[in-house]
Amino acid sequence: MATGSVEIIYRGVFQKTLAKNICRDIVFAARKRDKVGITFSRYSDSPERNGIPAKQFAVVADTDEEMEEYLSRYEPGNNDVTIVCDDTLCKGIESWGWNGVQPINSLLKENGTLLVTSERSPNGLIGDIHRKGAPYNLAIIKAPASFSGMWVFRDDHTDVRLLGAVAKVAPNVLTLDSLIAAINEPKKNDAKAASAKRGYDEVTSTPVGADQGNEAIPIKFELPHMSQMEECLVVRGEHVREEAPGWQGGYRPGRNPVFKKFSTRSARPVVNFDTCTKCSFCWLQCPDSVFNVAPDGYYDPDMEACCGCGICKEVCPVADCITMVGEEAFTDNQSQWELWKKDDKKYTEWLAEKQQSEVTRSHGLHHVGQYAEEIAAEEKRS
Ligand code: SF4
Ligand code: SF4
Repeated sequence: MATGSVEIIYRGVFQKTLAKNICRDIVFAARKRDKVGITFSRYSDSPERNGIPAKQFAVVADTDEEMEEYLSRYEPGNNDVTIVCDDTLCKGIESWGWNGVQPINSLLKENGTLLVTSERSPNGLIGDIHRKGAPYNLAIIKAPASFSGMWVFRDDHTDVRLLGAVAKVAPNVLTLDSLIAAINEPKKNDAKAASAKRGYDEVTSTPVGADQGNEAIPIKFELPHMSQMEECLVVRGEHVREEAPGWQGGYRPGRNPVFKKFSTRSARPVVNFDTCTKCSFCWLQCPDSVFNVAPDGYYDPDMEACCGCGICKEVCPVADCITMVGEEAFTDNQSQWELWKKDDKKYTEWLAEKQQSEVTRSHGLHHVGQYAEEIAAEEKRS
């Protein structure tokens, strides 16, 4: 039986280097203890896409035979630790290939540890995470979602801080000594070793009961039987009018009823209808046909369909009409246009509150020079 395994859930492309570095050090540290280690990724629609949830695994075993036995499964379950590199993923994840939302803790074993980089409180995170039906521990390393090591982003030691925390919560996978030995090879790196020690010392852990957490039932779809499958990808949909209850007129583009993208996003657009000019750019340019045309001609983004790419914000010609707001500021996918129609004053307050959580994380579409700005801001923080 394998002695330990770790699942790393991260934002595709943006955090791939971070995830790779975490896995690599687990394997190197295992070898320092005369164990065998292996790492591999799971992504059903390779290559990865920007920001879409993806996974890597690192497995440590005593012998080659144990490792072979463990790897005969398709996807490792019962992991000792699930590392979540971006706390907005705590609401559940959906990569392109899954049908529905997978709770973030679904592959974690009973009494295992969900280890999250976050600046939020344990209770706030537990409110987002689906109930597991079995006890586990929520461990937190205080840090923002990091792009460590990607392109021009400097290595901010998030990888070794997380690994130090793994050494604390799952010593069967990793010990601090073996981690530091791995960090120092081939070249001694006192700064990284100190960061690993910091992660070990600073990680906090909160027990989570079987019944604690988000009560929502994760979305699941009935998959077609093999005999019903068709050649090529078929995205069905129909153009529907007056579909939404209470809507007289308006227009909703046809969407695939079994492909909801909201759990892939880390931020969502919020619209200021008071300044919107109905120019239609957002509606035309959204790659996922997310905008419904409301009966009065405004464009209402459907929050079940939006993946949070931020293109609508980029193309909107009105300053501050669309704001990208961090996903942690929301608990539902309600229609913004309906809220606004119901009570525009209340909506203005709601909007102002949400705009406090504006995010400027890059998705590769911002103007040249943004990376330099982001790095400067990060350096100021640390
Ligand atoms: S962020 Fe905007 S452009 Fe991107 S999917 Fe959502 S609504 Fe469409
Ligand atoms: S792009 Fe901006 S101004 Fe134009 S319709 Fe969309 S939200 Fe309104």
